[in-house]
Amino acid sequence: MDTMKTIGIIGGMSPESTELYYKIINKTINQRLGSHHNAQIILISVNFEIIKQLQINCNWQEAGVILADAAYRLQQAGADFILLATNTMHKVAAQIESAVTIPFIHLADATASCIKKQNIKKIGLLGTYFTMSDDFYKERLIKQNISVIVPDEITQTIIHNIIFDELCLGKIEESSRKIYLDCIDKLVRDGAEAIILGCTEITLLIDQSHTQVRLFDTTAIHALCAVDLALA
Ligand code: GLU
Repeated sequence: MDTMKTIGIIGGMSPESTELYYKIINKTINQRLGSHHNAQIILISVNFEIIKQLQINCNWQEAGVILADAAYRLQQAGADFILLATNTMHKVAAQIESAVTIPFIHLADATASCIKKQNIKKIGLLGTYFTMSDDFYKERLIKQNISVIVPDEITQTIIHNIIFDELCLGKIEESSRKIYLDCIDKLVRDGAEAIILGCTEITLLIDQSHTQVRLFDTTAIHALCAVDLALA
């Protein structure tokens, strides 16, 4: 299968979710092609502590420089297209896109097109504080005529802290799962028809077996989108 494209991944934010991308992509390519086929992947995994400090200091520009450099190096190494394996850092998507000539597969766009296919008009968004409170992510959905609701500010902080203090470190707590499920139910009461797991680690805590509410798992959506492109 020498026509298979090479997938470039900017990962490490956190390693817990990058591992999922690697697993899902390889497993799905093997399911589709059989035998010992798996994906051709080039991964640049950054030090999340450095990115986290830049987030805390609102130094998105510097974070963008680091990720744009990673994208450029992926292109130089032979990647055919690029995935950024975090929702939050799509805040600097424009900086990354301008550093390369190969396609950048935007996570919010891939998610929006899945939601649109299900004819869903109003969605609840869970993610980091940055993803829920800023416009950079929501605006991509709104552009596709999907309206977006998020938890109140106090709940956003709780959801955010669980991501950083637990999920990014591989800690799965039953009490946190309950908080997320309660939050999902509240968003549904407020009119959400489905929920975006808009942080690539949330799927470690919550999956479709935990709730009747339709979930859009951005990690799986993005990884499967990469498989389709690699095999196209
Ligand atoms: N992986 C997370 C996301 O999808 C959060 C980590 C980060 O801040 O990049 O948003």
